[in-house]
This record gives sequence, structure tokens and C-alpha cells, in this order.
Amino acid sequence: MLLPACGAAARAVQIPAAGDASGAKRILILTGEDYAGHDWRSTAPALESLIEADSRLLVDVFDDLKSLSDKSLSPYAAVVVHFKNYDPAIPGRAAFDRLRDFVHDGGGLVLVHFACGAFEEFRDDYEDLVGRVWFGATPPAGRAQHDPHGPFTVNLTDVDHPVTKGLTSFSTTDELYTCLEGDAPIQVLAEAVSARDGATYPMAFVTEVGKGRVFHCVLGHDVAALTNEPVARLYCRAAAWAAGLEPAPDAQEHAWTFVNMPDSTPTPSTPPLSASRRRWSGGAPRSESWESRRIEQ
Ligand SMILES: [Zn+2]
Repeated sequence: MLLPACGAAARAVQIPAAGDASGAKRILILTGEDYAGHDWRSTAPALESLIEADSRLLVDVFDDLKSLSDKSLSPYAAVVVHFKNYDPAIPGRAAFDRLRDFVHDGGGLVLVHFACGAFEEFRDDYEDLVGRVWFGATPPAGRAQHDPHGPFTVNLTDVDHPVTKGLTSFSTTDELYTCLEGDAPIQVLAEAVSARDGATYPMAFVTEVGKGRVFHCVLGHDVAALTNEPVARLYCRAAAWAAGLEPAPDAQEHAWTFVNMPDSTPTPSTPPLSASRRRWSGGAPRSESWESRRIEQ
């Protein structure tokens, strides 16, 4: 597909074919299961498109989580976690260990939205890897999962970091997550103030684990939130950084244009983009979820 380069001057770029000698870094998006309100079938292609806006990045999407323990990560410079599993056996301990070893050995890791709740069954180990994790289906006293979906301001708190350098605070319409906990050292890049409780919560942060770089962001409930220009730019730059690249030079005047982006109000039947480039194993997201349970409370 043709997309403008992330943060670069407006231009059409040709995504290199897999395996060519262009020097492109390969990125792997892991998806395939999430809370029913998270339509990964449309958000994963959106992520793919916004990351590939950087012509140096070539994205594969893998949605067969039960086979993740057999998936080689060695071709990839960074992995994007874009799932929340509910079955503790899928993807399972072997898959988690493979991912952890990948990062410790120098691979990049990007977490998107409810990925903070993935690997709940290995919560302490996951926190060591990603800095902060979801506190679980039952919030601690006085806490909530997130503010009601709506507009809020994301304040950049560190614009010296390669991911956020030159960027400015922005407005978005999303879920303001208030559900992270953990004590691991992190470097907060962006935060937001909850309208519900007035407290400040991290929206995006980085940490380094072993030789690897980790970017963890809780923005991106749906396609509309992910493709909000500043959010898309943030994830695109983060993917480059996690992959060991300097994010592409920023050009604030450049208006992003997403070609063939899915509708902003996706349905489960929304067809994936570039279907010929990946294998979608299917399987409906589970209907039971922490958010649906929360609503019942
Ligand atoms: Zn959400």
C-alpha cells in the first residue's frame, strides 16, 4: 500500500517486499484475542498501516496465539503486543518466555491499549517486562478501570526522548486508562488527568529490559483513537525506536492520510486490509470481558 512516511515530508512510499535487501526492519503484530469491545480485526490492520507509514518498517500480523510458542521471533526487530488473552494457556508460558528472551536479547516491544492486561497469569513477570500492568477485573478501592470514553488531553511530559521529540500535547477521544499498577522503573513520556478522580495517569512510557527497548502506551481503544494523527504518529515513531531506529524526522505540517483505512466504527465483519499479506485464523473475540463485567457492577 502507499502511505506517507511517518513524520517525514508528504510523499508516497512503496513498502518493500518481505525478504528484499532494502534493509527494512520487520515488525510483528501479535493479535487474535481481546475483550469483545476491542475489534482487533480492524485495529490490527490500522496499526499495520500506521506503522508502515515509516517506509523503513515492514509489518507482519500474527493472530494464531495458540501457536505463538512455535513462532520464531528472530526475523523481527520489534514485536507489538495487541491482544489480551483470557485463556491462561494461550499463548502460554513458553510463548511468554520466548517473548521475554526476545526483548532481553535486544528486541523491541510495543504495547497497545489493553495489552497491559495480557499474560495476566504471569503478572509479576509481565510487569518486569513491560513496566506496568492491568490491576485486574476488580479495581482496588477508590479506583476505576478507565474514564468513560470521551475527549481528553494527552500531555507530553518528556519531549527529549526520541519517540516524542518535537511533538506537542494533543487532544484525543479514547478511554483514559486508570488501571495500571506496578513499581518497575519507567520513563513517562505522556500522561493525562482523569476527569473522574482528578489524578494524573501515564498514557505512554518507556523502559529498557536487558538489551531491549519497551514502549508501553494505553491509548488506542478503537480505530478512530488509533488513527487520531498524534496517536498514530506516536505509535509509528515508537515502533521505529523499539526496532532500534531513530524515529523519522518530524514534520508537523504534514497531514497524515491513511489510505484504505477501515471505517472508524468497525464491525466484527470488517474485512482486514491487505489480507493477501497475512493469514487470519479467525475466531470471534470472547464475549466475556472485564469491561462488560465492570458495566454490570
Ligand atoms: Zn478499550
